[in-house]
Amino acid sequence: MPVLCSSCAEKRAVLKRPKTAHSLCKECFFWAFEEEVHQTIVSAQLFKHGETVGIGASGGKDSTVLAHVMKVLNERYNYGLKLLLLSVDEGITGYRDDSLETVKRNQQQYELPLKIVSYEELYGWTMDAIVKQVGLKNNCTFCGVFRRQALDRGAMMLKVDKICTGHNADDVAETVLMNVLRGDIARLRRCTAISTASEGEGVVPRCKPLKYAYEKEIVLYAYFKKLDYFSTECIYSPNAYRGHARTFLKDLEAVRPSAIMDVIHSGENLSVREGVKMPVQGTCGRCGYISSQALCKSCVLLEGLNRGLPRLGIGKHHRLHEKILSQQPLTQEEERKLKAVDF
Ligand code: SF4
Ligand code: ZN
Repeated sequence: MPVLCSSCAEKRAVLKRPKTAHSLCKECFFWAFEEEVHQTIVSAQLFKHGETVGIGASGGKDSTVLAHVMKVLNERYNYGLKLLLLSVDEGITGYRDDSLETVKRNQQQYELPLKIVSYEELYGWTMDAIVKQVGLKNNCTFCGVFRRQALDRGAMMLKVDKICTGHNADDVAETVLMNVLRGDIARLRRCTAISTASEGEGVVPRCKPLKYAYEKEIVLYAYFKKLDYFSTECIYSPNAYRGHARTFLKDLEAVRPSAIMDVIHSGENLSVREGVKMPVQGTCGRCGYISSQALCKSCVLLEGLNRGLPRLGIGKHHRLHEKILSQQPLTQEEERKLKAVDF
């Protein structure tokens, strides 16, 4: 006997929602998924009428679903937002070039303007060239730091008021776990926030409308809506630490489906004891971007690449920042330590 949709009791159910275990038909699932994102947006007051919002678009399932749902809700509830797509081209042959083709198709399908900023034009380095110099172990550190700044720069070029990204509940729970495992209190406190205010010059506020959406449901939504997205993994994606957190979370979820939400709630409810030292945010002495050190992470990584000393931005070499800023030469010993590519 076919199972009827538990919401409309008319059509045949085609799926069991991972989040609620309800059996739903396609239309009722779409409605439930979109309404939950709408509730997230409204209750956290993510946007104001008239704002220009840049949707971080990679061509992957999360950002494609985000772009689609943002467009639907903007029209359905008259948010009054000017939406556009903002993409970063890291310069990864065989991966990003293909996924950007997907974004370009999405641009046509959703009729949204698109801006692509590339690492090559911003930093003079592609990820292909960076991997050649640094190898495949810390490449994601470079990529992640550069991407954050690239999105901000793209957003500023387009005079965007806010950036929204496709981070889902699984991503947030993974990040909570990673920060617990690393003992990174400052990030742990920030990572569950659904939106960040502008933290300083050159930083555009960000938000995550899919923060409470399960990855499994995003995949189902994209599948049943027949959305056009790119599903290949990055060719440089060892990113081992996040991978372990992900596997651990998936194992937990198999035993207890609410594990993802539970981890997020734990992260949200953690409070930091008074008197715990937090990094003080200032600005980078070279580029003006926010930084808790004399130089921002991006400038240090770039300096390391340009000097052929890739280790400069990996690990703690804060005392060298002042030296770099004032263009003093490093000692031979300092150079020797930073040169090795055995990391
Ligand atoms: Fe960049 Fe690493 Fe992501 Fe590839 S997996 S896009 S190198 S952060
Ligand atoms: Zn800088």
